[in-house]
Amino acid sequence: MEQSFIMIKPDGVQRGLVGEIIARFEKKGFTLKGLRLMQIEKSFAEKHYADLSAKPFFGGLVEYVTSGPVVAMVWEGKGVVETGRKIIGATNPAASAPGTIRGDFAIDVGRNVIHGSDSVDNAKKEIALWFPDGVVDWQKSVHPWIYE
Ligand code: UDP
Ligand code: MG
Repeated sequence: MEQSFIMIKPDGVQRGLVGEIIARFEKKGFTLKGLRLMQIEKSFAEKHYADLSAKPFFGGLVEYVTSGPVVAMVWEGKGVVETGRKIIGATNPAASAPGTIRGDFAIDVGRNVIHGSDSVDNAKKEIALWFPDGVVDWQKSVHPWIYE
């Protein structure tokens, strides 16, 4: 089954949005497979965002995601990578539709509350980086009430 790496950024934690964000993925029907509250270091943030190292906002981004604790999660379900991105909304909250997490809770691109993997391949890489000991192997008993 497909998995995505979802991370609530320091602003989301500070603003008390952890429960609200988890509830959205949970109520959709996805299964929480991994959950960690972490304070990450600069080198770790640089690794996670390595693909963006040439961007002008890279320094500010690394400072932002290391500025406080983050909630790292693995969510599982059919199409969770693509659907997770839809639940999160467009990168710039000014363009995120109402009803999405960024559309409902964020204003500036540099304080957009949440990260979600953008492809199945990147999800695998991110999960390996953030959950080196693996995730929890369990299945929901309501599975047949979510999947036909
Ligand atoms: N970001 C930024 N300024 C920009 C573009 C991106 O500060 O002009 C930050 C923003 O927090 C974003 C993160 O860099 O979430 C990663 O950028 P990416 O393009 O991967 O967006 P995402 O996948 O998070 O939607
Ligand atoms: Mg991205």
